Amino acid sequence: MVYAACVPLIFTMWSVRMQTEDRVAALLAQMTLAEKLGQLQQFTGDSPEHRDWVRRGMVGSIINVTSSRSKSPAAEANALQEIAVKETRLGIPMIFGRDVIHGYRTVMPIPLGQAATFDMELVEEGAAIAAREASAYGVHWTFAPMVDVSRDPRWGRIAESGGEDPLLNARLGAAMVRGFQGEDMSAPDRVAACAKHYVGYGAAEGGRDYNTTYIPEGLLRDVYLPPFKACVDAGVATFMSAFNDLNGVPTSGNAFTMRQVLKGEWNFDGFVVSDWNAIIELIKHGFCADKREAALAGLTAGVDMEMLSTCYVENAQALLDAGLLSMEQIDDAVTRILRIKERVGLFDNPYLTDERTSVVLAAPHLDAAKRAALESCVLLKNDGALPLPAGLRSLAVIGPMADNPKEQMGSWTMDGNANDTVTPLTALREALAGRCDVQFAPGVPDCRSTDTAGFAEAVRVASACDAVLLIVGEDAGYSGEAHSRAYLTLPGSQDKLVEVIAACGKPVTMVIMAGRPLALEELVSKAQAILFAWHPGTMGGPAIADLLLGTAAPSGKLPATFPRTVGQVPVYYAHKSSGRPPRAGDHVPPIGTPLDPSDFAGTYMDSSHMPLYPFGFGLSYTTFAYSELTLSTDTLRMGESLRATVTVENTGSVAADEVVQLYTRDLFGSTTRPVKEMQDFRRVTLAPGERQQVTFTLNTDQLAFHNPALQRVVEPGAFHLMVGGNSEEVLLAEFTVVE
Ligand code: BGC
Repeated sequence: MVYAACVPLIFTMWSVRMQTEDRVAALLAQMTLAEKLGQLQQFTGDSPEHRDWVRRGMVGSIINVTSSRSKSPAAEANALQEIAVKETRLGIPMIFGRDVIHGYRTVMPIPLGQAATFDMELVEEGAAIAAREASAYGVHWTFAPMVDVSRDPRWGRIAESGGEDPLLNARLGAAMVRGFQGEDMSAPDRVAACAKHYVGYGAAEGGRDYNTTYIPEGLLRDVYLPPFKACVDAGVATFMSAFNDLNGVPTSGNAFTMRQVLKGEWNFDGFVVSDWNAIIELIKHGFCADKREAALAGLTAGVDMEMLSTCYVENAQALLDAGLLSMEQIDDAVTRILRIKERVGLFDNPYLTDERTSVVLAAPHLDAAKRAALESCVLLKNDGALPLPAGLRSLAVIGPMADNPKEQMGSWTMDGNANDTVTPLTALREALAGRCDVQFAPGVPDCRSTDTAGFAEAVRVASACDAVLLIVGEDAGYSGEAHSRAYLTLPGSQDKLVEVIAACGKPVTMVIMAGRPLALEELVSKAQAILFAWHPGTMGGPAIADLLLGTAAPSGKLPATFPRTVGQVPVYYAHKSSGRPPRAGDHVPPIGTPLDPSDFAGTYMDSSHMPLYPFGFGLSYTTFAYSELTLSTDTLRMGESLRATVTVENTGSVAADEVVQLYTRDLFGSTTRPVKEMQDFRRVTLAPGERQQVTFTLNTDQLAFHNPALQRVVEPGAFHLMVGGNSEEVLLAEFTVVE
């Protein structure tokens, strides 16, 4: 019965697919080489020169049709599209792309903040909202999700990622793809997605953007590739090749990653666009001598569309003539691009006829943005200062991020508008109106300023109030592309501001907005409570106010380890064990070492080897107790699953969400294995006193890794299974995998 019911659906999908393929093939058969090469070219913006290219059928795509708010982007896009459709010989529509990274007008928290929610339904909803709003303005295609695993908070683009863990990035990426594209990316409220930056970009040496990466193939396959594979499995339409050199071959000229893995092993049938000028940059990498070589490298490796630079259109003919490139290679790239244009529905609906601009900032969108901000905030410390006491008569709000609507949106918000954004100061004033006097002093003019002239006023305000709220951090442009850091402290004179305010002797709560994990070791003792809010987006203010006032309880968990100091970087939970692992806890070898041989361990002389806050960490206004971890079996046959059940109890007095995390450790392998790997997670809501059993299913396939021969294997032997509310505090059980 079930099978019979599925047949018509499968047949419809198959016939739509065949129709697409037939239409694409028929079109391709009519195309001249110049028209084919035109499909491989992407330009930015609208100019008389570009219009001329479009008229000659030489442009397949435009990125960022307009950045001006004065014009209607849809009108501008339609005008350009009309040239492509009506004035070119074959009338092939262009696909309009735009960086809609974490929202269009309704700005969600930065992706790293969204990862901190561990709530993939909410992430999907956020992407669906972004698609609804962006498509209403004529966007067909977004350059998201970014799923570059990053274990280096110095790297500015960690803000755009899902953090340090492959599984979290994979789930985040897949959720965003589902949200952007829906079931059918030709629906008027959906856009095509783009998994980027393929691949390894987040492992840049020194955390410096665009820098070289060296990633052994086993690690690449176990850690950096899986999030991209998850996007392919979720049906992502396109990929973007990256800027970095990977093991000596720049990723935008890398046949191994694109031809072999993506298009070969994974059977990806969409297209790959280069990153901005990444093809011509193959020359600066020292990989290609000129534009001709760059075109050859990019096309051979499998980059189908060239963003901005014009190596392909200028050189493909000569490369064909020289027999270095085949027409099949060009046809393959064109077919892939036309296929996605078909799937986006561009041949049937090239124009935006119905500018549905009223959808932006719709109430449900703002509600979702608020929920996302709420769930993304991570409570790092609370000595009882939070929630703020109900009877508080006066509150000093201090710091450059307290009332900074533009900066709290975070990086990559081309379409976000500061006027739509609610700051914590505004939200608190509204929530506390008539019952608490909220006074404000920024202390410093902006996040980066070293000007201390405003300190005196800030100290006066802090001293005059019952409690202090310090809202500090990084401005939006301090993270993101090309914005890496060598220090991980608060920028400018904010550290000093925190110190002088802490010296006022009032209870201090610190809210930190930033695009990356910061090294807060020196600051922790200065505040009674610390809430890490990332860049929380349009509705960050109301969400933070709810959390501070106790209307909602914090539930975010860290998607990346917080180091004590930048010198510990890279520091991440899924590290290997050395032959001399440090002792548990902090231990600094004393003067006179060697005294005790056990002091010869991998720690630091001047800091702990332990992070300040581990991956997965986050407090709430209640506490959760974990108990009774049981496994359905302690002997697992290859290919089978076990069930791990744990009891989680809310032992406090408020209802809250907890993110229950499942980790495993493969104790011995033909290649050494990480000390922990997250296998699953679940967000649960528990009333005060409530106990809930949480069951995870673990299949042996999840335990696979690449052995020294680069085969994906599950090796029999002993494993640890761990469950807890963060990656350090876990209950442990053991099981064995047998053939
Ligand atoms: C970034 C990409 C982005 C592209 C288009 C590049 O500089 O690396 O992430 O999608 O520009 O704006």
